[in-house]
Amino acid sequence: MNTDRIENSKTTENSEAIENSEAIENSETTENFESMENSKGKGNSKEKENSEDSFSDYHESVDTRSGSYPDFGMRIYGHGRPVRLFVAGLHGDEWKDTTGLLKRIKPPKTGTLALIPLVDCGKYISTLNPDYYSGIGKKIVRAIEELKPEIYVEIHSYSSKNLEKLAGKNRLELIGVPAYSILKEGVLLGSVSPWIRRKYFPKESLCLSFELLKGSLESRKFAACMLEIIKEIQSLDEFIEYMKKEFPVQAKRAMEDYQRFYGKI
Ligand SMILES: [Zn+2]
Repeated sequence: MNTDRIENSKTTENSEAIENSEAIENSETTENFESMENSKGKGNSKEKENSEDSFSDYHESVDTRSGSYPDFGMRIYGHGRPVRLFVAGLHGDEWKDTTGLLKRIKPPKTGTLALIPLVDCGKYISTLNPDYYSGIGKKIVRAIEELKPEIYVEIHSYSSKNLEKLAGKNRLELIGVPAYSILKEGVLLGSVSPWIRRKYFPKESLCLSFELLKGSLESRKFAACMLEIIKEIQSLDEFIEYMKKEFPVQAKRAMEDYQRFYGKI
């Protein structure tokens, strides 16, 4: 049994949205983006500030409209830099394994964490397809343009039969993008689609894509741990140091592949 699954996003959305009312904002509005841009903490991390008070400000701005939208809106926790954007449920039925992860994340200790728990649950269109980010994924692009995140993370899920395609040595030759690294519990780590990486992010941004094994509780649990770590990460360099320490083999290979594909970081 998989309690993380949401049986019907349309019917559960209202109650979920109300229960998780902290800082929920719909991506249709720009209020949150503006308030984040104007936030006292921006560009001045030394300024002392009670983050709980700021958090309450967002709480106050919670808009009951969010219950009436036909999909999950964006949530924004915290304020100031760095800005991290985590996205799940990007296509097809992947939301079943990934959306719940983002719904349970708590605010970061520093900076901003923006979440898009569900992008689309209709037809599967690969993020390697040039039409993905201008079509069903355009709310991601809109969020990136508004928030300018330093850290961007996509959470996908895969069927075991596709493991070789994702993590096999020949991925670069066959598919044209670097292979995923196998971390633990079936969780794979790679970069995001070149269609979004090259167009919307400077080199120093940290862009990651996780792939969870479909239907695996262990995979979800491990991915949740990784997201807890990344939501506190400040920069690409800090993440590289973390990976070198915790996953040295994967880090080495990922960096070689990455440099081969994107050029030196
Ligand atoms: Zn996917």
